[in-house]
Amino acid sequence: MFLRGCPLRCSYCQNEAIQTGEDFRDTGEIMDMIRTSAPFISGVMFSGGEPAAQKNALVALARDAKNIGLLVGIQTSGLFSDTLDNLIRERLADKIAIDYKTRWEEPGVWEPECALLRGKYERNIKKSIALCKKASAEGRLAEFEIVITVFRENEQYIRKISDENPDVPLVLQQGEYKIPMVTADVVNMTEYISRKQNLIQQYTPMTLEEIERIAETLKRDVRIRTRQTGEILFNRRFLL
Ligand code: SF4
Repeated sequence: MFLRGCPLRCSYCQNEAIQTGEDFRDTGEIMDMIRTSAPFISGVMFSGGEPAAQKNALVALARDAKNIGLLVGIQTSGLFSDTLDNLIRERLADKIAIDYKTRWEEPGVWEPECALLRGKYERNIKKSIALCKKASAEGRLAEFEIVITVFRENEQYIRKISDENPDVPLVLQQGEYKIPMVTADVVNMTEYISRKQNLIQQYTPMTLEEIERIAETLKRDVRIRTRQTGEILFNRRFLL
C-alpha cells in the first residue's frame, strides 16, 4: 500500500510522482480494499512516499489490518521515529525495513528547502534504529532490517552504517540512476543517439559482482538485491 507524500527528495526516487500532491481517501475505504484482498494475502506492506508521515492514518490502518489477522510491514526512511515508536508500542508492526538515506545524495535529498531536514533526518534515523533494535531484542518486532540503495558514490557510508549496526540484518539494494535528458542543443539524430548512449554508460548501475566486492569488505552476512538476480544471501562464512 503506497501512501502519498514524502519530504525527502532522493535523486533516485522511483516514486517521484507521489512525493507530493493530494488524493485524500478515508481510511475506511482503504481498509475495505485490504479486507477484500485478505483471503489471498498473509500481510500488508505500507510504503510510499513516506508512510510514517501520516501517523494517525498509518496507525489506524495497521491496527485494523492486525485485527483481521494480517501481518504488517512498514517500509520507511526512518525520518518519523514517533510514528514507529507508536506502532511498536502497540505491537502493530511485524516487520520494519528502514531505507537508510546516505549523505552522498546531496543536494538531491537536501535541496535548499529541505536543508533543515538534514539534521532532523540524521537525528531521527538514529532514534528509529534504536527503537527497532530494542524492540527486536525484546521480541516485540519479528523482523527488522536496514536497506541501503547502493551507488558507486556511497560506498564509504555503507561501511560506516554496517559498522554502527553490526547486529541488524543489512540489505544492499542495487541503485538505479535517473538518466538525464540529452540537452536541447543537439543538432541531429546521430548526435542524439551518441550522447544518449554515453549517458546510459555513465549512469550504469553497479553489477552484482561489484556489490559483492563491497559486501566482502563488510565481513558479515548481507542480502543483496539486484534487478538481474533478485535477492541473494552473501554469506561471509563461505569466504573464511
Ligand atoms: S524517501 Fe523514498 S519516497 Fe521519499 S524521496 Fe526518497 S526514495 Fe522517494
